[in-house]
Amino acid sequence: GFSRYSTATALEEEPIKPAVQVEHTQLLIGGKFVDALSGKTFPTLDPRTGEVIAHVAEGHSEDVDRAVAAARKAFDQGPWPKMTAYERQRILLRAADLLEKHNDELAALETWDNGKPYEQSAQIEIPMLVRLFRYYAGWADKIHGMTVPADGQYHVQTLHEPIGVAGQIIPWNFPLLMFAWKVGPALACGNTIVLKTAEQTPLSALYAAKLFHEAGLPEGVLNVVSGFGPTAGAALASHMDVDKLAFTGSTDTGKVVLELAARSNLKPVTLELGGKSPFIVCEDADVDQAVELAHFALFFNQGQCCCAGSRTYVHEHVYDEFVEKAKARALKRIVGDPFKSGIEQGPQIDSEQFEKILKYIRSGVQSGATLETGGDRLGSKGFYVQPTVFSNVEDGMLIAKEEIFGPVQSILKFKDLDEVIERANNTRYGLAAGVFTKNIDTANTLTRALRVGTVWVNCFDTFDAAIPFGGYKMSGQGREKGEYSLKNYLQVKAVVTPLKNPAWL
Ligand code: NAD
Repeated sequence: GFSRYSTATALEEEPIKPAVQVEHTQLLIGGKFVDALSGKTFPTLDPRTGEVIAHVAEGHSEDVDRAVAAARKAFDQGPWPKMTAYERQRILLRAADLLEKHNDELAALETWDNGKPYEQSAQIEIPMLVRLFRYYAGWADKIHGMTVPADGQYHVQTLHEPIGVAGQIIPWNFPLLMFAWKVGPALACGNTIVLKTAEQTPLSALYAAKLFHEAGLPEGVLNVVSGFGPTAGAALASHMDVDKLAFTGSTDTGKVVLELAARSNLKPVTLELGGKSPFIVCEDADVDQAVELAHFALFFNQGQCCCAGSRTYVHEHVYDEFVEKAKARALKRIVGDPFKSGIEQGPQIDSEQFEKILKYIRSGVQSGATLETGGDRLGSKGFYVQPTVFSNVEDGMLIAKEEIFGPVQSILKFKDLDEVIERANNTRYGLAAGVFTKNIDTANTLTRALRVGTVWVNCFDTFDAAIPFGGYKMSGQGREKGEYSLKNYLQVKAVVTPLKNPAWL
């Protein structure tokens, strides 16, 4: 029973009160919640209203120093890397059980701070978080090196050892899932961590990290510092005592942290950056199904996904029908208070993203794309944006080239496969792609030709813990999730022993 306009009216009602208290707003260092040394705090805002949820301790470089020292001590002297893998595994499994037990509180905090639909948090994301930690717990006791055949009379083995202190910087679009993608493999491999959350969404990771301590994680193994990028983030990226850096966020900031890492101690860096992922609807597609999947590929999470299918390429034979139906689907999208049941779309994260999206929409109109529906804010408070669809989009337009990170679908027409391959690849990004076809030859051609880290064929945003994720080109370096992610957190040591002593005889 909603139409876009009835939900717009509903947005004028009082926001629903979340069923959770904010308990943790301090920094988590050495197993204790502490204030920032400066005593400073910053407000974290409710995207539904722009009002303050809580004031959170604002970490600066001196707090990062403290957190890194705690992580260093836990690595060098503490029990964590020296524990048996089985003990580490049991702690991770207990943490997963506690995360599962506190599903609803975690989901409520996530939705309150981020604006994503509560049902999405509670039914999809927190269960995924639990699954990720169980998956990585499974790896903890399965990490081992090799015996290497070498010339001469030597026995050669490799040891896979933890790198040390991992610095991790995460974004606001999936605060807890990004926490898990980073923390899971690092802990499974025996590293210690200083994690910097995004300044827009500091709350849920503090709560989750506290549960890890309840599960028996030794103090100093997982430290969480809230704060801003140029201060706390840059201090972490350039820290001489951080042995590895993992970052998710924008490509521009990715370049900055890579440079900071290079200029300090050459710590290895994994980057998971932006994208402008094509979603290709082929000639043979069932149009209704294609419309639904392309809609999900773009609009999921308010369009705030690094891998959003933000260039919808549609074959000319089905194009007109597709555009009509995509518009109808966007018009039916249920936007409203994310705590309300049945809501598909909540507000954007903050005023900066909200303004940026509206600017891109104006740019689409000015460059001559056809605005089929949407195009404006929804309601009069908070950061809600109408589900927006552009047709007749050309490759050269800004809305087809840059990451909008909002609920704005751009539909482009194509004639044949060679053409769409070239156009889909004609971008600096290479994170993901969607392919919609019933023809296996078409699917095989596209999956081989697309220069991206993930191709979803007749599905999208499938994020099982075991599937590696990462980018080609300027979408990133390295892979997260799956077995591939372990490599980011392990050093390889070759141990060479002569079979006969002395070796040179
Ligand atoms: P951002 O890259 O600036 O922020 C991501 C993280 O990096 C945050 O924790 C931030 O505090 C930190 N950071 C910022 N500047 C830093 C610095 N100089 N040194 C160290 N850390 C720093 O992203 P944003 O400003 O939140 O969003 C801007 C755009 O980034 C979005 O519009 C979107 O296009 C893109 N984005 C991508 C992803 C993704 O998952 N790939 C996630 C969020 C945003």
